[in-house]
Amino acid sequence: MKGTRKVFVKSFGCQMNVYDSQRMTDTLAPEGYVETATAEDADLIILNTCHIREKAAEKVYSELGRMRRLKDDAAANDRRVLIAVAGCVAQAEGKEIVRRAPAVDIVVGSQNYHHLPGLIARAEREGHAVNTEFPVDDKFDHLAGPSRAAMRGRGVTAFVTVQEGCDKFCTFCVVPFTRGAETSRAADKISAEVERLADAGVCEVTLIGQNVNAYHGAGPDGRPWSLARLLEHLARVRGIERLRYTTSHPLDMADDLIAAHRDLPALMPQLHLPVQSGSDRILAAMNRRHTRADYLDVISRLLESRPDMALSSDFIVGFPGETEDDFAATLSLVDEIGYSGAFSFKYSPRPGTHGAEMTDQVDEAVKSERLHRLQHAIDYQQAAFNRHCVSRTFDVLFERPGRHPGQIVGRSPYLQPVQVEAPSSLIGEIASVTITEVSTNSLFGALARQPALAAAGA
Ligand code: SAM
Ligand code: SF4
Repeated sequence: MKGTRKVFVKSFGCQMNVYDSQRMTDTLAPEGYVETATAEDADLIILNTCHIREKAAEKVYSELGRMRRLKDDAAANDRRVLIAVAGCVAQAEGKEIVRRAPAVDIVVGSQNYHHLPGLIARAEREGHAVNTEFPVDDKFDHLAGPSRAAMRGRGVTAFVTVQEGCDKFCTFCVVPFTRGAETSRAADKISAEVERLADAGVCEVTLIGQNVNAYHGAGPDGRPWSLARLLEHLARVRGIERLRYTTSHPLDMADDLIAAHRDLPALMPQLHLPVQSGSDRILAAMNRRHTRADYLDVISRLLESRPDMALSSDFIVGFPGETEDDFAATLSLVDEIGYSGAFSFKYSPRPGTHGAEMTDQVDEAVKSERLHRLQHAIDYQQAAFNRHCVSRTFDVLFERPGRHPGQIVGRSPYLQPVQVEAPSSLIGEIASVTITEVSTNSLFGALARQPALAAAGA
């Protein structure tokens, strides 16, 4: 092993970046890099960036200002620090990043993380290294998996990327440009990764992809598997108690996936199914390829399959051409469905997308006012959903110590954080909890039964 150096990785944006950041540190481990939690003592700083909205991309440049100062301070003490920009901003802006922020040594696009060791060597030799190609080889075949110790350190829940990229080209979205065409990983590779995670103590796996329910990776016989088939297979992995998947597109909610919510006890009753708008006119302008009625139909079939399903969504307000009537249609859809939570965003024109070229852009003040009203409606629904949980008893998977001594935190089947006074020996276990109280974002509860395990570990 080469001399030990420290790497600090900061992830912005979605869960896929969190997963990719872990794969980058795993790939650098055989090169002698150990992960550090602070940028100040790092020899290599990686910013894994997000380009989905303008604000997300600009955050990277302000963070780079701070990193440049750290790099200068280290240089004054004869220590060389390398700065790398990875992820979607790297993919979208390439060399332009080095022009705007000359302290950056490495720019690495989202499909090239397996080339990081080579790029580091090139940057050390030549000053800069940029790689933002979309190679034909599968980066997952080359990226190192985590060591057992690394897996254990990351807790009892894990993300696993099963699908990447998107061919849908919604007119607001940069993902097809920054993550490339839709690809799915082979089922046996995913299965092997999940088995390793289970062996290291992980009991909940969330399968992730930009369009995860479009999954069509090769099965062991070479024929494509659907996401439902993959879930059914993974539910049989010993030690895996809970499965989730995100993010889904309404168009790809296939019948077998809807049925899996009825048939697979390990598949949790919570689904993030972004709709973006409740207006058919806006859905068409967004190129979502489904109507409000199609979405409602998917939801009603899901609820038939799993009546206690909790639903969440993403919404964009102020897409070009959105009138007050269109926005009212979004509010009425929210009303009709009753979400357990949702994310909502002001439309942000992204370079290279159709939406950015549209002439009927909505005024910022109008967007802000609509966002405020929508968030109010969503908060109200989330509070109602949480209130409805009081006095109910359900299984909680405990993940980590709580904020206060004696408290531990876990997740309900519906993905709500649940705080319970209980021994830390229950972390990594699923226990039955009765909900006693709720706040806006959290539930509080008490162990329904004092399990033998709790008593033994207490
Ligand atoms: N693939 C998912 C889907 O089909 O809905 C979403 C992926 S995207 C990474 C996450 C969310 O960011 C989207 O659902 C959308 O609400 C939001 N988003 C994407 N582009 C945006 C833009 N230009 N302005 C505002 N929000 C945006
Ligand atoms: Fe972006 Fe999702 Fe639309 Fe693909 S389906 S273009 S990832 S919003």
